[in-house]
Amino acid sequence: MKSSIYMDAHATTPVDPRVLEEMLPYFTERFGNAASRNHAYGWEAEEAVDEAREKVALAIGAEAKEIIWTSGATESDNLALIGAAEMAPAGRDHLIVSTIEHKAILDSAAYLERRGFRVSWAPVDSTGLVDLDQLAALLDAKTFLVSIMTANNEVGTIQPIAEIARLVHDHSPALFHTDAVQAMGNMAVAVREAGIDLLSLSGHKVYGPKGVGALFVRRRPLIRLAPLLHGGGHERGMRSGTLNVPAIVGAGKALEIATQELESNRRHAAALRDRLRERIVSQLDGVFLNGHPQLRLPNNLHLSFARVEAEDLLREIPEIAVSTGAACSSASVEPSHVMSALGLGTDRAQSSIRFGITRFNTEAEVDVVADRVIHGVRKLRALAVQPEAS
Ligand SMILES: *Cc1c(COP(=O)(O)O)cnc(C)c1O
Repeated sequence: MKSSIYMDAHATTPVDPRVLEEMLPYFTERFGNAASRNHAYGWEAEEAVDEAREKVALAIGAEAKEIIWTSGATESDNLALIGAAEMAPAGRDHLIVSTIEHKAILDSAAYLERRGFRVSWAPVDSTGLVDLDQLAALLDAKTFLVSIMTANNEVGTIQPIAEIARLVHDHSPALFHTDAVQAMGNMAVAVREAGIDLLSLSGHKVYGPKGVGALFVRRRPLIRLAPLLHGGGHERGMRSGTLNVPAIVGAGKALEIATQELESNRRHAAALRDRLRERIVSQLDGVFLNGHPQLRLPNNLHLSFARVEAEDLLREIPEIAVSTGAACSSASVEPSHVMSALGLGTDRAQSSIRFGITRFNTEAEVDVVADRVIHGVRKLRALAVQPEAS
């Protein structure tokens, strides 16, 4: 059997066995509906949901009441933008998002633009950092929301979120939302200290299950969002629908572990990431790092290999699960909007690979990945210089 190595943490992470164990009883004997008020099945489910809510709140320095469960960060991002737009006071029609946001933000913003809202796209520099002067110039009295991600899912750049939130609040009455999906488990996130009003996170990017996420919605002073889903009035009326109790229990456990083990996870990822980079760079010339050299996620390595097509390189290393840095998704052949926003050029984009280190990767795996990549790049470069046979 062909062994494979998973190193694509930004796409998804495996469920931690401790998370799965916590979830299992909620599929079997504890199957109650958390909204059932008349019997112990319901009470037990509600208690589990509340416990998970506490854990998620603790992970970001919030209160349990400020956590709204969703089906994932795509929904959290949609609810933050569209829910805030619908509740914005008359005349407050302006939204700002950065050019390197996840599609869940970009496409929600584009949807609002079609519905008559004004959208400004805050530019970034070549390392992926939002230009603060340009952001300040975009803010005005009509801005109702600014959304800037905490850490980028492609090139790994970490924004100075507290500074950005302060700028937003100093220059406008806008709410500040951040998509912190990639930050969770990789860096400290604290909503009060940072001045964050709304924050999205996802279960499956932090070793929890897929199909569950949360939106932090600040309560003091109170923020009201119009719901996307209408129904039984669950989640303080902001998100109706019977709660996915097993997934919520899993998300709670996943974020509890992420909080408790933040330091060791961060050290582990950074050590493996640095080892991978050093091995590759010591053996190959024409290797370039994309994103910010220091202000980056500990588990992210985004490299361009001169004179190599990333798609060809992936075909040379089929047993290694990494992503090309250039494609938005495997379904898309367009260059990534993130690489375009950084202004690095198509060659640099088309030759880039994103490595995402997980909690479960080992030094031995890093060494295999480095060797296979070095071998693949050398082979493709050698083929490229040979005269074409006609
Ligand atoms: C994965 C991801 C999302 C979407 O999360 P889902 O839970 O898969 O919907 C949103 N934002 C970022 C930055 C992501 O990496």
